[in-house]
Amino acid sequence: MQENIIIAGKHAAAQVSPSWQQQLSRAIRDPISLCQRLGLSDQWQPGAQEGHQLFEICVPEAYLSRIAPNNPDDPLLRQVLPTSKEAQVVSGYVVDPLEEAAHRPAKGLIHKYPGRVLLIASPACAINCRYCFRRHFPYSDNSPSRSQWQEALAYLHNDPTIHEAILSGGDPLAASDRQLAWLVEQLESIPHIKRLRIHTRLPVVIPDRIDEMLLGWLASTRLQKVVVLHINHPNEIDQAVVDACQRLKQAGVTLLNQSVLLKGINDSVATLAQLSERLFAAGVLPYYLHVVDPVQGAAHFDVPDEEAKALVSRLLEHLPGFLMPRLVREVPGRTSKTPL
Ligand code: SF4
Repeated sequence: MQENIIIAGKHAAAQVSPSWQQQLSRAIRDPISLCQRLGLSDQWQPGAQEGHQLFEICVPEAYLSRIAPNNPDDPLLRQVLPTSKEAQVVSGYVVDPLEEAAHRPAKGLIHKYPGRVLLIASPACAINCRYCFRRHFPYSDNSPSRSQWQEALAYLHNDPTIHEAILSGGDPLAASDRQLAWLVEQLESIPHIKRLRIHTRLPVVIPDRIDEMLLGWLASTRLQKVVVLHINHPNEIDQAVVDACQRLKQAGVTLLNQSVLLKGINDSVATLAQLSERLFAAGVLPYYLHVVDPVQGAAHFDVPDEEAKALVSRLLEHLPGFLMPRLVREVPGRTSKTPL
């Protein structure tokens, strides 16, 4: 993404890239603008406004540039365009599908599984995915200040069975590097924490997020580093994403990917096979293929279990085992993901 700047007096044009923060602040946050930018007919606008009232739209330019214009069925557009279907009330689809409220021992901390905890490092995302299982999450109650983090950090200090800290959100990489470097320093000071895992969609949505500042603190931590990306469709992987993945690998990061199986977006063998191939070419291993969590507003994305299982068994015929993501569901109260 480039901007032209005229250098006064010389009539010369120099090109500078907007920072990731500028790209984020300029993201499209108005449903009508999104429809107009992509040449969608007016019929899409009322639904887009209705869905936006329930969960605000956010689409950065770097992601928008990968969406084909004049195509309401574009698989990337479908992930971000609000529709009136989000207002449908469907039995079993609830605001807290994973019952996370029952597993918050301190502000910003979720402890569901043995040996690892989740830290809500940022309440913000760089994109608002319409199927997000945290679309109703009470971020305002779970965004600790530095002093408020102390309670969560004390909890980690006091439990030697915890070996892994997972930065989550929102998107943890939406937080500033200063804040993230501080938080990681606190985690490093806890001897039994061995691994840092970061669950993020930012390297996909705004690849420029993987900049020198981030790579600096990431490369210097003693913790083993795993970044779990969230990519659902091969069209999301352009050269800028591949380059961002390479920068992360050079900083010593293990790269994995988790996808959500989404009706009308990636529920075909050809799409999933191509996704795994492109991920591996970018240095990323497919990890999980999640069925949609039953969050209110996302029922229209659900692929029934029998279809999902048939799809994955056909996928096996096209991929080597190491490129097969595991088809899983998260069931509240269980101590791990549940394979289907
Ligand atoms: S990036 Fe992740 S947390 Fe953010 S809206 Fe998308 S799915 Fe939800």
